[in-house]
Amino acid sequence: MIQETITYTCTNCGSTNIVRNGRNKCGSRQYHCKDCGAYRVLKPKTRRSPRQKATILRACKERCSLRGIQRIFGVARQTVANWIEAHVRSLPDLSQTLLPAQADDVLELDELWSFVGKKQQKRWLWVALCRRTRQIVSFYIGRRDTASCRQLWRGIPAEYRACRCVSDTWSTYQQVIPRHQHTIAGKSSNANAHVERWYNTLRQRLGRYVRRTMSFSKADEQHYRMTRWYIIEYNSEIASLTM
Ligand SMILES: [Zn+2]
Repeated sequence: MIQETITYTCTNCGSTNIVRNGRNKCGSRQYHCKDCGAYRVLKPKTRRSPRQKATILRACKERCSLRGIQRIFGVARQTVANWIEAHVRSLPDLSQTLLPAQADDVLELDELWSFVGKKQQKRWLWVALCRRTRQIVSFYIGRRDTASCRQLWRGIPAEYRACRCVSDTWSTYQQVIPRHQHTIAGKSSNANAHVERWYNTLRQRLGRYVRRTMSFSKADEQHYRMTRWYIIEYNSEIASLTM
């Protein structure tokens, strides 16, 4: 018979005066140190390789919930949320993903509702889509008001801001877009067909990505992050196909 005895010590203070303290949400055993009072994981998991991390992030983008990720890969939800945050922060600026503007480009401006937490918590996603390239040249998440529309407008890079803009008849757009470059189109005219189609794709990919259990401010950040992630990669894909 071969027997091995392992002595665990507190990773915080080095004391051996530690006792079992159940398991954490991922099922890892925890201890409590009676000397320094720390509650820690008994055998900390080894770091994930960049490849494993990439696989897990890809799963997030395929509408796998953070809870699902936790069940499949055994990674805590908060850890995955931190990875997403770091990943999205490392992405380039939206303006850097755009193809050069052309003088006769047309932008379709529109807003679509999404929600954070529950359906009553509406957040409007404002987008400006270039009809020729199908890229999103600006987006903003906020309320359905003139201030948000103005933020969208300000986010449009200078080289695209002189382009002709098409929107629906809602008066907010008329307050923000200079009249000489604004085409107001009724719902039946199909002028916003491309942006509508883009919304369909977005809804399929990001339809219900905000988890109900998160606090609202966190969910808002997460909502913005996932949207930005999707848009930057969407734009970059188009740019790489064209170049
Ligand atoms: Zn300790």
